[in-house]
Amino acid sequence: MSANRSGNTTPVFDVIVIGIGAMGSSACHHLARKGARVLGLEQFDIPNALGSTHGSSRMIRLAYYEHPDYVPLLKRAYALWDELEVESGQKLLYRTGGLYMGPRDGEIIGGSLRSARQHHLAHELLDRDELRRRFPQFEVPDNWVALHEPEAGFLRPEAVISSYAELALRAGAELHGREPVIEWNADGKGVRVVTSRAEYQADRLIFCGGPWSGRLIRDLGVELRVTRQVLGWVWPKKPELFALGRLPVWAIDHLDGTIHYGFPMMNDVPGFKVAHHAPGETTDPDRVARDPQPGDEETFRPILRQMIPAADGPLLSMKVCMYTNSPDGHFILDRHPKHERVTIACGFSGHGFKFASVIGEVLADIAQGGSTTLPAAFLGLGRFA
Ligand SMILES: Cc1cc2nc3c(=O)[nH]c(=O)nc-3n(C[C@H](O)[C@H](O)[C@H](O)COP(=O)(O)OP(=O)(O)OC[C@H]3O[C@@H](n4cnc5c(N)ncnc54)[C@H](O)[C@@H]3O)c2cc1C
Repeated sequence: MSANRSGNTTPVFDVIVIGIGAMGSSACHHLARKGARVLGLEQFDIPNALGSTHGSSRMIRLAYYEHPDYVPLLKRAYALWDELEVESGQKLLYRTGGLYMGPRDGEIIGGSLRSARQHHLAHELLDRDELRRRFPQFEVPDNWVALHEPEAGFLRPEAVISSYAELALRAGAELHGREPVIEWNADGKGVRVVTSRAEYQADRLIFCGGPWSGRLIRDLGVELRVTRQVLGWVWPKKPELFALGRLPVWAIDHLDGTIHYGFPMMNDVPGFKVAHHAPGETTDPDRVARDPQPGDEETFRPILRQMIPAADGPLLSMKVCMYTNSPDGHFILDRHPKHERVTIACGFSGHGFKFASVIGEVLADIAQGGSTTLPAAFLGLGRFA
């Protein structure tokens, strides 16, 4: 403890983590297990359904169409997910296989093949007849193909955050829910963080504020665009075709840089989940329309009509979530450009959850040792210079 200006004592930590969502909860876990004195601060509940990490499932893929440089990080992420399942005693990762459909030279097939070949990943290329025979759920154009990879599947995001928070707390971390961070500063001696309840000091600071990152991180020099995203659940006309064990996670190329994707049905959430991976309407995280709006269903209904007719049944529910888009759609994981003691993880652009296990490890490495041996340098701010 040290005395602050008003004479009260100020708690002192090795690291303060702001935002206990996907990335922050993982960072707290990795730091606490290495013996750091950690304080995690969250403005809402831990976990909550108000940021980017709710809706029961998140896809994980290894043959990453976005760029082959992600694959080594993904390999480490998978190993850490397996460890987390053992440590928490919870089922968090379902390896269902993944099925990606599109033209042979489209982004999703071309990009997935590039990653699979460069990193020698198990995969199969299916022509349309083989696709129709094995996966009659999908009716795609004649000239399309599909790539199947056995390692893909999905994670349970709410259970992941709960597991990380619980393990971090048991390892000695202090986590505070419902305590928004209002301001912070850093100098050569340390960092100071002011919340709605108190003031804290630490040696290092990690920002994992998700859609609120732009509010808190000054001088980043990069614009983060927050968008409103819709998830839908429908009751299929032929539910047996969409059951867990029968259906892999899947994605359909739209040939415009966007995809539709979805998951097998789970027994604790009714219906077949489908969504459009494309930046939605720009929004403000404090004012986003969280209730479904007219037109929301049309973000996913046409793909059911056109290519998955056996799933084109009644709507059951919709949920709203947010993406934090970086200018190039790739993550931002780096030291703050002006503050050596501050590390930033943001701009996950709608595809970051599967990496949360390894991002937490990278953040802990940087906060504790100044650098990481994990291959994450391609996500640095330098690429925008
Ligand atoms: C609809 C949708 C579908 C997605 N599908 C996939 C998928 O299939 N696969 C995949 O890999 N990724 C997917 N993603 C992306 C993935 O979910 C996100 O990249 C990831 O969850 C982001 O985690 P985060 O920790 O950055 O943000 P969050 O989990 O939102 O955490 C940020 C936290 O910071 C807190 N916070 C912010 N400001 C403050 C403050 N001032 N004080 C205290 N706390 C603060 C917030 O309350 C929040 O809890 C999807 C995202 C959405 C929205």
